[in-house]
Formats: sequence, C-alpha cells, structure tokens
Amino acid sequence: MIDLRSDTVTRPGPAMRAAMAAAEVGDDVFGDDPTVNRLEAAVAERFGFRAGLFLPTGTQSNLVALMAHCQRGDEYIVGQDAHTYKYEGGGAAVLGSIQPQPLTNLPDGSLDLAEVARAIKPDDSHFARTRLLAIENTIGGKVLSLDYHRRAVALCREKGLQLHLDGARVYNACVKLNVAPAELCAGFNSVSVCLSKGLGAPAGSVLVGSAEFIKAARRWRKMVGGGLRQAGILAAAGLFAIDHHVDRLAEDHAHAARLGDGLARIAALKVTPAQTNMVFVQVPATEVAGLGEHLKASGIIAITAPTMRLVTHLDVSAADVDRVVAAFGAYFARSARAKDQVPA
Ligand SMILES: *Cc1c(COP(=O)(O)O)cnc(C)c1O
Repeated sequence: MIDLRSDTVTRPGPAMRAAMAAAEVGDDVFGDDPTVNRLEAAVAERFGFRAGLFLPTGTQSNLVALMAHCQRGDEYIVGQDAHTYKYEGGGAAVLGSIQPQPLTNLPDGSLDLAEVARAIKPDDSHFARTRLLAIENTIGGKVLSLDYHRRAVALCREKGLQLHLDGARVYNACVKLNVAPAELCAGFNSVSVCLSKGLGAPAGSVLVGSAEFIKAARRWRKMVGGGLRQAGILAAAGLFAIDHHVDRLAEDHAHAARLGDGLARIAALKVTPAQTNMVFVQVPATEVAGLGEHLKASGIIAITAPTMRLVTHLDVSAADVDRVVAAFGAYFARSARAKDQVPA
C-alpha cells in the first residue's frame, strides 16, 4: 500500500531497528539514560541551544514549552491554523491555564507581525498578560522564510515577548531554505522538533531551549506523565534519524513536486504546488467518495475530502508517485467517459 495520509506513517527500517536494539539505556527519570542524554545534547547543539528534553510526542513538547514559558493567567499569541492552538485539544488552556490569543494566518502561513504587535495587551488588570508568541514552520507544508523568522525575533525582543517555534517539521524548512537549524532558529527561546514525522523515527520529539527553561520543562513533563524510563531505545531511533534522514527530506520535496505536477495535468483537479512534502488537491465534491474507493482499490491510502492533503515521506518512492498519478488519471478518465454517456 502507498500511504499518503501523513509523514507519521513511516516504519523504522532495518538500520534504525538495529540502532534501537543496540541502544545503551538507563532510567531517564533519574537522568541515567546515556542515549537519551546524547540525543538531547545533539539536537540542542544543532539548533544552537544549551539544553534539550526528549518527550513522547510533539503535542506534549509544545504543551510543556508553553507551560514553562507562561504562568497561569498569561496569554500566548498563536495562529488560528497552528497545531498548538487547533490540534492539541486546547491543552494550553485546559492544562496550563494559558489563554490563547489566536490570529488569522495569512495565505503564506505566517502571522502579520503588525497585527501581532497590536494584539499585545497593555499591563492592566483587565487583561491576561501577553507573554509569548508561538509560530510554526513548516505550517501546512508552507515554509516561513529566514527573514520572517528574524523579523519575529526582533518584534519579540522589542516587546519583551518569549518566542516559541513549533518546529514539528522545521527540518523540512531548513532543507528547503538550505539554512542550518541554528541559523533559522537564532533568537528563539524554544523550539520543538518532531522525530516521528519526516525524520521517520517511530516516536518522540525534542524540545530545546536554555538550561533554565529546560529544567522547568522537565518538571512539567514529569507532571503530565511524560517521564519515560529506558527511553534510550526510542532515542536511538531519533539519533539515527537526525544523522541519516535529514538531507533526504529533499527527496520527499521532489516527490511532492512530481506528484503535484502530475495531478495538475488532470483537468478536474485544482492543485496547490508543493513547497515541501505536502500537496493539496481540490477534488469536485461529487467525485470524493468514488475517488476514495478507486484509490483504495488501487492500493493507495489517502484521506479523501474536497481538499485532499497528500504527504510524501521516507516510504514513498518516485515510482509510487507515478502509480498515484496514474490511479488519479484512470479514475478521472473513467468518470469523464461516464458523464459523456449521460443523455443531455
Ligand atoms: C504532528 C505535529 C505536532 C504534534 O506531534 P504529535 O507527536 O503528533 O503529538 C505538533 N505540531 C505540528 C506542526 C505537527 O505537525
């Protein structure tokens, strides 16, 4: 099966599994797991921060980051489409007592920084205290530029805000922009990096920041139940991923571009060209169900909707992309013929 639902569906290959099997482990709650410690140090170093923290999921990583930055009654500014705001069950508000101030993302995925500045509330007892700006890169497969990052850093410095990057797919941005992680994230207070998306590890995220920030985040991680024990088995997969699966993200981007180009030649579809590893395709509403059946019968798993998101990853080859384009092509050729046969 070719699974295009997400880049989370990858399975660890033999080399990653060998690294996991060979991992030296200890009890990470005691700080004793050498492999976790190596992973935390390696990600922190690559992103230009002093310390790192390994967490089971990106959701928990964002949550403890927000809780470490903000106190009860504080507020964070975030995009309406941001994962932290929209797809994490409202955890910052529910568990952190942190009020979100959502702003509409611009079509390129960014937040208008002038609007961010206007959303900062005065120091007045009527208002929550605006503490933090959270941005996401990539967001919906779109890349925010190095220049945008720098302008966000400058704004936060000027206004005294903390700045968090939900970098679940930040390596996709780095590869696309050809910029090192430490350069892209310079001036941020924290970055959350997923190992289980395009990097292909089975689980895990690493949060990076200052030593003091990570100490606070470690306490929250324990409280929300994220203190794992012999987690080195998972961290070994993460180390393998950051050493072997970063540069190859360019292949995923090339495959997404090839997929977008192929689908764009089908008249019934409207394709938004891929910037990284995601292609968005508008399908006529009347064809959604039929297309879904056809794809399934052709060995392709995708979330069928009027706007479909197709994601390329480690387990999707160029040949797979061509099979997907052919399956879409066959379906729409047949549905066009069927329509021609309907009497006017
Ligand atoms: C997947 C994702 C997360 C959360 O990661 P999980 O490991 O699924 O909890 C956070 N932010 C973004 C942008 C993501 O894509």
